[in-house]
Amino acid sequence: MTDAPLFQRVALLGIGLIGASMALAMRRAGLAGEIVCAARSVETRAAALSLGLVSAAYEDPAEAARDADLIVLATPLGAFGPLARAIGPALKAGAIVTDVGSVKDIVFRDVAPALPLNVHLIPGHPVAGTEHSGPAAGFAELFDGRWCILTPAPDADEAAVARLSAFWTGLGAKVELMSAEHHDLVLAITSHVPHLIAYNIVGTASDLETVTRSEVIKYSAGGFRDFTRIAASDPTMWRDVFLTNKTAVLEMLGRFVEDLTALQRAIRWGDGDALFELFTRTRAIRRSIIDAGQDSAAPDFGRRPPGPGGEPPA
Ligand code: NAP
Repeated sequence: MTDAPLFQRVALLGIGLIGASMALAMRRAGLAGEIVCAARSVETRAAALSLGLVSAAYEDPAEAARDADLIVLATPLGAFGPLARAIGPALKAGAIVTDVGSVKDIVFRDVAPALPLNVHLIPGHPVAGTEHSGPAAGFAELFDGRWCILTPAPDADEAAVARLSAFWTGLGAKVELMSAEHHDLVLAITSHVPHLIAYNIVGTASDLETVTRSEVIKYSAGGFRDFTRIAASDPTMWRDVFLTNKTAVLEMLGRFVEDLTALQRAIRWGDGDALFELFTRTRAIRRSIIDAGQDSAAPDFGRRPPGPGGEPPA
């Protein structure tokens, strides 16, 4: 006899990279009796069905959420409020409502007021992704060994938090709990500001008049290419991240600009010691990310094609 799945019916509201990866990882681990989704476009609903991600795909989010034990908001952040208002009246007592959005304070602001008091709202954020979008971009291993941060309110139901933590562990992730406010500050510096810098540097390069666009592309291996990967991330998702995590991003950006000015001064005054000291410290941070298993130590991030001896990229 097999164990009962953790949730009988899981409703994914939005099924792009993250929702599709969750569906595949749920199937891999047998975490759900039934997986359904809601998606606004007919193409996405058809793809979710033909890729075998879900057993039913609805246009109306309330239809998907009805009778579900776990409801996951997996659209861009700007759609969370309208979605919550649409599903609120259809939710089953005791259901867990969560999300995968990259900003967390906004969930309490936009989602909580639209939900009935007899459901558990536990915001979440899997810190895992790629620059690809849509249901076909999903893969079951996306969350393996990655962190999923849950930001329950201080008075959240402990059993519901434990159940959602077990769910994410089953999807392959490592779970950490923190406040929504702290999450937004940490992610501002580790994810949001780096994306802004990438968008900005790629934008600046494409606007340059003295360096041709073909030169930018031809010599991109010199660091620029890694920025272009980040700057290829979904425009809607990232627009919403900056609109919703405004305070923390502006705070971190202020610090960043100050430090950039100090670097500018070090270059102007030929202060090699200051540059060397910073570059040595940052190298150590890279080392700790690799030691923590959060990235590959392979040259060129493991992207090099197999060598002449046939060795595969790491
Ligand atoms: P995605 O691949 O672009 O998929 C987004 C899904 O949301 C699609 O099903 C789309 O439907 C639907 N959608 C878009 N706008 C909508 C609207 N206004 N109303 C209703 N549905 C809408 O996005 P994703 O990468 O999975 O990201 C989803 C969430 O995960 C975002 O909140 C993001 O912050 C978070 N997240 C992303 C990453 C990442 O690296 N991508 C990592 C962690 C967390 P249609 O296809 O029908 O348009």
